[in-house]
Amino acid sequence: MGGDEFTVILPDCTDAVSIDRIVQKILQVMNQPFDLGMGDIAHVSCSIGIALYPDNGEDSDELMQHADQAMYVVKQGGRNGFCYFTQNMQQQAEEKINLTHDLHGALERGELEVYYQPIIEMTNRRIEKAEALLRWHHPHRGMVSPAVFIPLAEESGLILSIGAWVVDQTVQAIKDWHEATGQWIPVSVNKSPVQFARDEHMDWLQRFEQSDLPRHILTIEITEGLLLNPSTRVRDKFELFRLHDIELSIDDFGTGYSALSYLNQFDVDYLKIDRSFVQNLVTDATNRALTEAIIVMAHKLGIRTIAEGVETEEQYQLLKDFGCDYAQGFLLARPLPFSQFMERISLPSDHVPVPVP
Ligand code: C2E
Ligand code: CA
Ligand code: CA
Repeated sequence: MGGDEFTVILPDCTDAVSIDRIVQKILQVMNQPFDLGMGDIAHVSCSIGIALYPDNGEDSDELMQHADQAMYVVKQGGRNGFCYFTQNMQQQAEEKINLTHDLHGALERGELEVYYQPIIEMTNRRIEKAEALLRWHHPHRGMVSPAVFIPLAEESGLILSIGAWVVDQTVQAIKDWHEATGQWIPVSVNKSPVQFARDEHMDWLQRFEQSDLPRHILTIEITEGLLLNPSTRVRDKFELFRLHDIELSIDDFGTGYSALSYLNQFDVDYLKIDRSFVQNLVTDATNRALTEAIIVMAHKLGIRTIAEGVETEEQYQLLKDFGCDYAQGFLLARPLPFSQFMERISLPSDHVPVPVP
């Protein structure tokens, strides 16, 4: 059907058991190594979506479309498997189309807002930094999570204008806070891999440069996947960041491959220890050992650590004992709108929560 897509029609198959058996067999065969000759061996994965006539469609177009939707579910779930189409998938697909439609123009209509979550220095509990987190106030659905709409923005290409806007907003916020409180608060901005790969011109970088902010005031948060097999273009962008004194932070550290070799290669400034580690710190000894090891390793490489999702005082104390540099989480503060963040940093320092003894 396409470069790497095939259709199998099972005309006389009426029961799920035999469909399952055939599908398993196809997967098994596809999982065998392919001999390309000259000693080259290739492995491929295979994702199968299944649609049933007449339950999932009356004609071939509809059946194909639904099998395709089911196949994408397999791909998203890590590939190499099969999945039957369900009505639920159809609803989700329609939901996605509607939301994407609404996202067009959301920026122009003023429905997007940047929130700032305080990042606290662990030894003195002061707000030292912040992370910019996008919010969408949908006119009918209320607040839509960035976890839901960022992927839609990526697929539709809207992420480029939205991403540039987040940096512009952040630059303005940093200036305004400085004017009001005399403090320079460094802020980190998230950039998804798609955004990173596609943003050719990075117009925002020019505007950032012209804004004349102090050095090391902006950090870009990326996930480590980007560093595993970086293209030359991605490497060039890191170079450019360095040149402009923009820092680099690895988000959700510990959830992916955690291949350590790239840490030195790319001059990483911060590791953000993922919330899943922090959550189980108190109850799980292995988690504690891993978290402590990450912090020690980072420090040996001259990288600072930020713990994400700190929700309890026990977690805070453990992280502090491990020597973690910064903490971010609901215990300390939720993501706040611009003006509320300003109020927080304007408080005299004895209003900042102090650790319980
Ligand atoms: P992230 O970068 O890992 O951001 C941290 C998320 O954890 C935020 O969710 C934050 O509200 C939440 N969080 C912070 N402290 C706690 C805590 O103590 N407990 C719990 N349970 N959660 C906590 P949020 O704001 O919903 O953002 C979700 C994700 O959306 C972000 O994950 C980030 O990957 C993405 N995102 C947000 N804004 C942007 C953006 O401007 N651009 C891009 N590309 N992605 C963004
Ligand atoms: Ca982040
Ligand atoms: Ca994170």
